[in-house]
Amino acid sequence: MIQGNFIQADCIHRLSSLMCPHEIEEKNDAEAENLTVKIYNFGGRDLEETDDFSKNKKFLPGKYLSFKPDITYLDANLSGCDKQCLKAHTNVTNVAQFINDVLQHTSSNGEEVIYISSINCKLNNAGWLKPLSDRPAQTIFGQCNVNGQLRSYAVAQDMVAHEFFHGLNYQTVGFDSLERSGRHGFDYRGESGSLDESYADIFAILFSNYNELNIQQWIWEIGQGFGEEGRPIRDLSNPSKYNQPEHMDHYCYYSPLERAEKHNDWLGVHYNSGIHNKVAYNLLTCKNASGEYIFDARTVAIIFYLALKDLRPTSLFKDSYIAVQQAAKTLFRNDPHMREKLKAISEAFKKVGIDDSSPGILKRIRYAILRAWSRSRGHSRTCE
Ligand SMILES: [Zn+2]
Repeated sequence: MIQGNFIQADCIHRLSSLMCPHEIEEKNDAEAENLTVKIYNFGGRDLEETDDFSKNKKFLPGKYLSFKPDITYLDANLSGCDKQCLKAHTNVTNVAQFINDVLQHTSSNGEEVIYISSINCKLNNAGWLKPLSDRPAQTIFGQCNVNGQLRSYAVAQDMVAHEFFHGLNYQTVGFDSLERSGRHGFDYRGESGSLDESYADIFAILFSNYNELNIQQWIWEIGQGFGEEGRPIRDLSNPSKYNQPEHMDHYCYYSPLERAEKHNDWLGVHYNSGIHNKVAYNLLTCKNASGEYIFDARTVAIIFYLALKDLRPTSLFKDSYIAVQQAAKTLFRNDPHMREKLKAISEAFKKVGIDDSSPGILKRIRYAILRAWSRSRGHSRTCE
């Protein structure tokens, strides 16, 4: 819950007293028919994952916000509230453009992809919500308390990107006639859930750094200012810096009997993802014998997008390795440097201990027993 006195970082504190100038009746908005990006004001209602969530989620997405194209968030006479709101709109629009223009993503049923966000949610997090029968998929953005100051997740382009890429994963993974169960997206638990987190992080980093042509200058951190004491949340170049493993030797295994729940991070989805995240860093920074980068950002984005299409709800890290290799074989089929590129991909995975074989069952059982033993002695995290 959000408590205490905070400096205003978005308009969550003004909502009871002031009408947001951007709020309009959606049905009266002439632009709305053509928009693929829609931002709604959730009006500071509670969306924590408690009973209140189920009570308040019926109010999603909130009140529609209109943004006139001639206003920019840098205008000196705009309030802080306006700036935050417009920044959120710009971030979502840029992510939508990246998904359309760079990945050329289209929905499997050919319908237009609509990017829906609710901002000003009273929630100490951000998230992507699956579509339900009575509600389309959407993202929700709350605030992070950084040293007594509330900071909206919607103003950070990598956080916005991460959440929408969960949506891309959902639309792309397991969505074809071969998936007989009709499930969409990764199972959000254990290793498949870690792939969901990792693909969202990898695309977020590619998106955030896309216009920086010099990979040496890239920022590999996710959620700068949103982690503990204002630190980043994760770092793809150095996962262990923020308490993530970066090799399969340190993968955190859980007992098959353990249920995926919030308290165990749905069996380590935000923990083990560091291993697969490091693959993307290895790939983007690998160089040829002449010291030149082997891949550019666009190529890596396309490889991971094509790989995503090959993955299934229960896919594991090794399946991602196979899918990325296959995507590269297709993409580089006429490339004279194909062998060098496939080798670089193989190395990027092998450096973190991922190849096309499954970790031995004995190893999994041993780690699961070690973990259960440690937990019985009161240690919360037992894997190294
Ligand atoms: Zn996530």
